Amino acid sequence: MSVRLGPPTKRGTPKMHVIVIGAGVTGTTTAWYLRAAGVDVTLVDAADLPARGASAANGGMLHASHTEPWNAPGVGWDLLRYLGRVDSPLLLRPRALPGILPWGIEFLWNSRRARFERNTLLNAQLAEYSLRQLRTLQQELKLDFGFVESGILKIFQDPKSLARNHAASAAMAAVGVRFEEWDNARVAAEEPVLEPIAHRLCGALFFPDDAIGNAAAFTRELATAAQRAGVRWRPNTRVTGWRLFQGRINGVETSAGPMAADAVVLASGFAAPALVRRLGLRLPVAPVKGYSLTLTLPAEWQPRLPIIDDANKVVLTPLDGQLRLAGTAEFTGADLRLNASRAANVLAQCRRTLPRLPEYLELETMEPWTGLRPMSARGTPILGPTRIPGLYLNTGAGHLGWTLACGSASLVRDSIIGADPALPIEPFQR
Ligand SMILES: Cc1cc2nc3c(=O)[nH]c(=O)nc-3n(C[C@H](O)[C@H](O)[C@H](O)COP(=O)(O)OP(=O)(O)OC[C@H]3O[C@@H](n4cnc5c(N)ncnc54)[C@H](O)[C@@H]3O)c2cc1C
Repeated sequence: MSVRLGPPTKRGTPKMHVIVIGAGVTGTTTAWYLRAAGVDVTLVDAADLPARGASAANGGMLHASHTEPWNAPGVGWDLLRYLGRVDSPLLLRPRALPGILPWGIEFLWNSRRARFERNTLLNAQLAEYSLRQLRTLQQELKLDFGFVESGILKIFQDPKSLARNHAASAAMAAVGVRFEEWDNARVAAEEPVLEPIAHRLCGALFFPDDAIGNAAAFTRELATAAQRAGVRWRPNTRVTGWRLFQGRINGVETSAGPMAADAVVLASGFAAPALVRRLGLRLPVAPVKGYSLTLTLPAEWQPRLPIIDDANKVVLTPLDGQLRLAGTAEFTGADLRLNASRAANVLAQCRRTLPRLPEYLELETMEPWTGLRPMSARGTPILGPTRIPGLYLNTGAGHLGWTLACGSASLVRDSIIGADPALPIEPFQR
């Protein structure tokens, strides 16, 4: 990785040229919204296709209702409780500790109640805006990504957890997130696959405005639409360093040679901190590993609704005629190896939610996947300009990257072109 001094790009050219690094859901939406505002855009990714990283096979949930950062008050005790326990939904690998120490301190600092509540509301506001932006985009482009405005059902076995979630949902209602309380009879009636466990529940919350969709299909469809609209797509191109002139970013060094730009948006997911370190910036974003399993189920076992099981810490999403199971949070560093026992753990947790899942469903019959959520220590995405002129950020959305993509990209676009943003971007800036 390098920082080079390059010649200035031609000022006063009619169109500003922006390079977006990373063609996950975050970078691709950023490229789209910039292009739609008339900006000249190049989208660069080290991979051969968009959505090869964390956006490849996520839980598919578009949940403005679920915007609590994972550093809730008490998270420190949970992490200690689960330290090294490979069968738990939350896992801190001792070997990862030195690498995430400064991030971890900031993560714990932000778990204080006042900060957690403020950050939850910031995320909820951004998520609500993001889903509105996504709906508008979908009306315009009619993308094929299994978008269903189904609502999302969250089920509970612990009354204290239900009460906490109820209070959080009531607070989020202030920014437009609606919810309904369902008793167990209603849960069993509306979602028959939950009938066998309904007696164990202490209630459920239903969020009618939430939706689902395949993030990878969306990203690839949008990338194609963006290319048609004039975005230059540069696959298999790794950004290795920066070009600076008089303290301002004016391009990047890549595996395919230097590229000039008036501004650069860094949307490279969990890999973003390593790229900016050379510029003297510390970006508090860490990889948090998760797993998903995609399987084909006979229709009678397929849930009607997307389900979040609070007790078992898994999500179950009917997606494009298949079922996507997703879960686990593993603090393990930038390790993308697929660990069969962790994937099996997700399946075991889901079997507790859907005990009627047929026995013949084994890991071998499913598509296992693992990805690294780019999680900021604050629990909110990191958006907008940096102290280095010409460098903008769009990363750190953690477990909410799909939900927040269209809203975050719109705010970053506004900060680059100098438009009035729908929401203040300052609380999300580094
Ligand atoms: C198991 C799991 C379940 C999830 N479920 C949900 C969910 O239900 N709802 C939700 O909202 N979110 C969910 N998420 C989170 C969401 O998937 C992520 O936040 C989101 O995909 C992050 O997108 P991104 O574009 O920022 O990063 P990525 O998708 O990782 O994209 C980053 C891109 O940058 C590229 N790149 C990196 N370095 C370089 C470089 N030097 N040069 C060029 N390119 C580079 C990579 O190749 C990659 O394509 C889930 C995540 C996981 C792991």
